[in-house]
Amino acid sequence: MTEERLSFQAEVSRLLDIVAHSLYSEKEVFLRELVSNASDACDRLRYAALTQPELSADDPALKVRLIVDKDARTLTVADNGIGMNREDLVENLGTIARSGTGAFLRQLSGDAKKDVSLIGQFGVGFYSAFMVADRVTVTTRKAGESQGWRWESDGKGEFTVGEAADAARGTRVTLHLRDGDDEYLEEHRLSAIVRKYSDHIALPILFGEGDEAKTLNSASALWMRSKSEVTAEQYKEFYHHVGHAFDDPWLTLHWRAEGAIEYTNLLFVPTSKPFDLFDPKRAHRVKLYVRRVFITEGAEGLLPPYLRFLKGVVDSEDLPLNISREMLQHNPMLAKIRSGIVRRVLSELNRKANDAESKEAYEGFWENFGAVLKEGVYDDYEHRDDLLKLMRFRTTAGDGLVSLEEYVGRMKEGQEAIFTISGDDIDSLLKSPQLEGFRAKGVEVLLLTDAVDEFWVPAVGAYKEKPFKSVTRGGAELGKIKAADKPEDKPEETPAEGGLTDLLALLKLALGEEVKDVRKSERLTDSAVCLVADDNDMDMHLERLLKQHKQ
Ligand code: ADP
Ligand code: MG
Repeated sequence: MTEERLSFQAEVSRLLDIVAHSLYSEKEVFLRELVSNASDACDRLRYAALTQPELSADDPALKVRLIVDKDARTLTVADNGIGMNREDLVENLGTIARSGTGAFLRQLSGDAKKDVSLIGQFGVGFYSAFMVADRVTVTTRKAGESQGWRWESDGKGEFTVGEAADAARGTRVTLHLRDGDDEYLEEHRLSAIVRKYSDHIALPILFGEGDEAKTLNSASALWMRSKSEVTAEQYKEFYHHVGHAFDDPWLTLHWRAEGAIEYTNLLFVPTSKPFDLFDPKRAHRVKLYVRRVFITEGAEGLLPPYLRFLKGVVDSEDLPLNISREMLQHNPMLAKIRSGIVRRVLSELNRKANDAESKEAYEGFWENFGAVLKEGVYDDYEHRDDLLKLMRFRTTAGDGLVSLEEYVGRMKEGQEAIFTISGDDIDSLLKSPQLEGFRAKGVEVLLLTDAVDEFWVPAVGAYKEKPFKSVTRGGAELGKIKAADKPEDKPEETPAEGGLTDLLALLKLALGEEVKDVRKSERLTDSAVCLVADDNDMDMHLERLLKQHKQ
């Protein structure tokens, strides 16, 4: 039989080294990761079998088994799901650095507890097997194929792949336990771990093979249970599983829509910011089910891109089971579900933003996800007003976050615009000479530091009929605004008008083509000069951003 020896991709090797040597506590999470993979594999087979029933016909009851061999000191996690062929094995368990691996390595903190929790979050779950095993054997056969495969590794840089005779459909992951890890051979220990982390999995997780096998979990879809039957702990574990997340959910939304169309949603907003939030694809990861059957993850059209921070499950009663991903894109029923979700999520966020009790927590939410919601202000006209209400800003007035409503409510007498300044970070913005005149008159300025600000601000134009106006633009009309504390009648200490005109002419001559114009201005109090953009020209910060991207 041919067996090939291959090297792990360098980052995978590093990761394995960390998993095997540095992470001592919370080892039990390896089982959650392997069960989660087994359950995903069954979900994928169930979906594929919708159009190709022959794939699962010989063994249609999908399940996960934990099998212990005390003499050999092995624990096997077996599933009869989709399985892997040789190519899948090499890609998934070896050579291709999954996108999460690098990010995981960068985020390691040295605190074992935190680091273990990062493992699943970054999709490096399979390798956690090496926390308790010094050798791992994977035997697998892909649904619809006849050849089985065997993968084996001691986690030290290399693995082997070869043919396996008589492999059943699906995957068996066998852990040769390390000395001292015999607890994972005990039924009561395994059962406790399954109940703790995997109870929500909708497939049966059995202990043992054959007729005496015992079901360890509830094996019913958590989202179909009524709210009163689900504990906060269960919601949290489900969130971890479905969202590949390890923080607490900040917001848990569990509701059923009944009426013309019926669907159940269990959606979560994370407490912390996921590392791939600004991936250019702007894809969400919410899972779509139809009558408890997993259909697909991240269906375009199920959520608008600006709600991509949501995690969880949507389960429709009405969509056809055999719907393809392509058909989903333009399905009117899906569009209705989407609009129901958007309405519900925005109104829930609005409640959080205004409730005295949750106001502060909302600011944390905004710091994490505000930049994403702002995309909606730009591309979802229908909900623009709702989104504008959810916005919070740092301003020149202090440390707190301010809503547009609050800003407009405290505009100065004679102030007609909402003033803004854009840049890369708050600290350098606060040092900007363009703010001097505004400070002197006590006029508050919104500090905009998100790239997306360059798009939504011009798209919206105004809030409550007050136009947004950049302080770096030509006509910032500070003159009309009454000074905050300076006495009105104090004459401005400007040089004689004649001298100033000469100076401006000289400067224009010296700078030539470099500038469009040189003007006198009200905006400065301490600095002698500053750069501004003309009213009709591109904002300076946007110009810099575009230059960075070579546009
Ligand atoms: P993730 O589950 O986040 O993708 P893992 O490290 O847990 O990351 O698994 C890596 C990949 O290996 C999976 O995406 C899947 O393609 C494959 N895999 C792991 N376990 C199984 C299994 N039991 N059956 C089929 N494929 C599996
Ligand atoms: Mg996994």
